[in-house]
Amino acid sequence: MRGESVFPQLEQLLPRVSKPVQYVGGELNATLKSWDEATVRWALMYPDAYEVGLPNQGVMILYEVLNEQPDVLAERTYAIWPDLEALMRENGVPQFTVDGHRPVGDFDLLGVSFATELGYTNLLSALDLAGIPLHAEDRGDDHPVVVAGGHAAFNPEPISRFIDAAVLGDGEEAVLEITEVTRTWKNEGKPGGRDELLLRLAETGGVYVPKFYDVTYADDGRIAEVRPNRDRVPPRVVKRTTMDLDAWPYPKKPLVPLAESVHERMSVEIFRGCTRGCRFCQAGMITRPVRERSIEGIGAMVHSGLDASGFEEVGLLSLSSADHSEIAEITKGLADRYEGTNTGLSLPSTRVDAFNIDLANELSRNGRRSGLTFAPEGGSERIRKVINKMVSEEDLIRTVSAAYAAGWRQVKLYFMCGLPTETDDDVLQIAEMAKNVIRAGREASGRKDIRCTISIGGFVPKPHTPFQWAAQCDPETVDSRLRKLRQAINADRGLGRNIGMRYHDGQPSLVEGLLSRGDRRVGAVIEQVWRDGGRFDGWSEHFSYERWMSAGAEALAPFGVDVAWFTTRERDEDEVLPWDHLDSGLAKDWLWDDWQDALDEQEQDDCRWTPCFDCGVCPSMGTDIEVGPTGRTLIPITPVGSSL
Ligand code: SF4
Repeated sequence: MRGESVFPQLEQLLPRVSKPVQYVGGELNATLKSWDEATVRWALMYPDAYEVGLPNQGVMILYEVLNEQPDVLAERTYAIWPDLEALMRENGVPQFTVDGHRPVGDFDLLGVSFATELGYTNLLSALDLAGIPLHAEDRGDDHPVVVAGGHAAFNPEPISRFIDAAVLGDGEEAVLEITEVTRTWKNEGKPGGRDELLLRLAETGGVYVPKFYDVTYADDGRIAEVRPNRDRVPPRVVKRTTMDLDAWPYPKKPLVPLAESVHERMSVEIFRGCTRGCRFCQAGMITRPVRERSIEGIGAMVHSGLDASGFEEVGLLSLSSADHSEIAEITKGLADRYEGTNTGLSLPSTRVDAFNIDLANELSRNGRRSGLTFAPEGGSERIRKVINKMVSEEDLIRTVSAAYAAGWRQVKLYFMCGLPTETDDDVLQIAEMAKNVIRAGREASGRKDIRCTISIGGFVPKPHTPFQWAAQCDPETVDSRLRKLRQAINADRGLGRNIGMRYHDGQPSLVEGLLSRGDRRVGAVIEQVWRDGGRFDGWSEHFSYERWMSAGAEALAPFGVDVAWFTTRERDEDEVLPWDHLDSGLAKDWLWDDWQDALDEQEQDDCRWTPCFDCGVCPSMGTDIEVGPTGRTLIPITPVGSSL
């Protein structure tokens, strides 16, 4: 019977695997609805382990939005670790949801949220375990429609053969629209089968169905043209934008993990979008324009979310939280409200120039001073102009001095290596910056035990950013610069021992680069890697560079291109990019001009505080940027309930 729980078979396997609790479900605020009473059934997947996937806000929001619909059922599924995967294959247990332990293959839709491209092989494992044909063209009317979302869906071409559809942008309204189309099609008796359902979805203009677009290639390997092959399908697919965040106060009841997870706190998204214009930042570019949640809306979500979950920490989430136009009022209001309770506040992402010590003090009023994190991203003033991250070293030193003087002992600094135009010297200046931070901290606090940790990631050029044309730096160069940086830090005996250094080597970044800017031909590489045993590529203990490189050489050879062609090659202005038919709202000529400005080391202001510079987003959304202080404050609510 469809939708029947596989728990009896699964339960026997769980004592033999690691962390079995991650597969049992039943978390606080989880929902389990009747299979038979639902018309449209969604399985929602985060393609990574439970501990990473459960706190994911995107999945949590869609899960709640869908389950609020009386005739819709949504359940969650996560990537299965290789130990259980092997046992499931041996015992014929299919990919299941953690809520009802129902076979994923029985649902109408499988929505997969990709925060990173390194989850692609986990999608293939889930499809295969679910008994869903890997290739969309082999699926029939009874197989789920596989819909990709998340930031990676802004170029879903590398996974186009495995998915039926992709949604660009915000999901809240999109899932309801897809549900409505599916509901109508089912109620009508599924006219025209799967093809008609996909056509109806594509016709909405906001759902990309790859099979309705033909891609042709020129002799030099570049894309010649992408063209719809059905009349009913638009030439370009537009991203979805939820304009009024206050109308979507989700998650209302955050899920509380059973097993240990990466974030054990509730999160409230205080705004979406970012117009700072950091040229490396895909999230900032594709989520424009800025949309703020109101101070009252934030206060109400924090209150009801804490009440429903019992969490003791609230994260005020966004791409750059200190940029909310009323951040001072929000943090003060919340700190006042929860003073004397166990509830702590955190701002997971903070900019040096938007940060002040009053804000830090409000955040730590309940006694938590875990450490401050800033992201200068580039070591030298020159490279920070190239990436448009205008943080001056003086600002940083002033801010950290104030923080150390106020009792903070630990500062973390994030950087990237392998940025366009970068030289060894740009990276070596990271060491100088870290040493200056320690010196300033010692002076401000009068103590020697000041620490600074620098964390460095490899830069990956992403679609829909000004760096989408850039040549990615090869892993050997990245690794050699990081080695020199470590030597420069260690060479200073007095200060070096107070500086911690964390970094990833350059190899996973190159694979991420292949998957980020790849086209449909890269699908063959993903499939080969998965067949060769590739799983959990975001985990260093599972990632194999050799596996990706050998699959890349083999699978791309018939097309006359290779991994380097997709990664370390700079693109021309006139090249058709694989995602050009997917509209993020940004004008391609504006992106190109911004890329040229980057090469000329020219900065671009934030349009929140300066006149519009015509990136294209607002007119294409028919909107204006929505920010501005309202002058309102939070009304103190006397804490009620044991959770506070
Ligand atoms: S269109 Fe203008 S105001 Fe809107 S995000 Fe772009 S630059 Fe800013």
